[in-house]
Amino acid sequence: MSARIIDGKAAAARLRERVGEFAAAFEGTAGRKAGLAVVLVGDDPASAVYVRSKGKATLAANMTSFEHRLPADTTEDALIALVDTLNADPAVDGILVQLPLPRHIREAAVLTRIDPDKDVDGFHPVNAGRLATGLNGFVPCTPLGCLMLLKDELGDVSGKDAVVIGRSNIVGKPMAALLTAASATVTLAHSRTRDLPGHVARADIVVAAVGIPHFVKGEWLKPGATVIDVGINRTDDGLVGDVDFNGAASVAGAITPVPGGVGPMTIACLLRNTLVAAHRNAGVALDKDAI
Ligand code: NAP
Repeated sequence: MSARIIDGKAAAARLRERVGEFAAAFEGTAGRKAGLAVVLVGDDPASAVYVRSKGKATLAANMTSFEHRLPADTTEDALIALVDTLNADPAVDGILVQLPLPRHIREAAVLTRIDPDKDVDGFHPVNAGRLATGLNGFVPCTPLGCLMLLKDELGDVSGKDAVVIGRSNIVGKPMAALLTAASATVTLAHSRTRDLPGHVARADIVVAAVGIPHFVKGEWLKPGATVIDVGINRTDDGLVGDVDFNGAASVAGAITPVPGGVGPMTIACLLRNTLVAAHRNAGVALDKDAI
């Protein structure tokens, strides 16, 4: 194995610490803590684990956590009414509705109801539009975390060839937009892409967000490439990524492990987005580059 292992856990711990320091300073200036509301509908065990860890991380970062647990038979109207209440609550800076929602609730109806300036998940079309057009807005946490890891590793990504595999609204598309904004030359690949190995072979940066275990093979990679594995796949062998780690690690220059790579950055970026929201909502200045 020759690749450097990108330690997302350590990077996330550093980011959470910085956010906690800024959040304490915010409390001193604004006279209140930054607040994140998390809404969980139903009793999906994986979602319950995510919500619990988001709540703990929020408290540890000197912020207030508002948890709303609603039964699985909650109506769409009732959930939207709760979102309206949170939109109007000045103690709530960020709102996150845990996905997936039960089938009888339309995700888009709920997510588009969140005030875009409290949309710390960055899923609202207004924030997707802001990202696409270079305006200030909230960027989805997972691709934001990936970009931070890439910048830590490479410094500048300007001029690099990047291949993003997967075009979901929560990972692939915003990842491609972020890399484009950072002046990389981006190819956004998906299930209809022809000759994916050929595209990957030219890439200095590969971001895999496919949802298929061990999908990206080591022999596809350009030697020295930086590989970011977003995949979280539960298999009989435990959690594995979308990249064949052992094969890739002998060719890549640097690679994120699963677990311990991108995953921990997602919650840290959620806290960062909440901190930014709190400053905006309270009219307190913040140097985002310092976080
Ligand atoms: P998704 O919505 O299912 O999207 C998967 C994408 O992969 C689609 O765009 C699909 O193409 C593409 N794809 C599927 N098969 C392909 C193939 N054979 N060749 C090329 N592209 C192919 O998934 P997602 O929500 O983006 O998540 C992707 C992975 O990241 C999952 O493992 C998920 O668990 C993980 N994830 C991790 C985090 C984290 O915090 N670390 C956060 C979110 C997601 P089409 O569009 O053509 O169908």
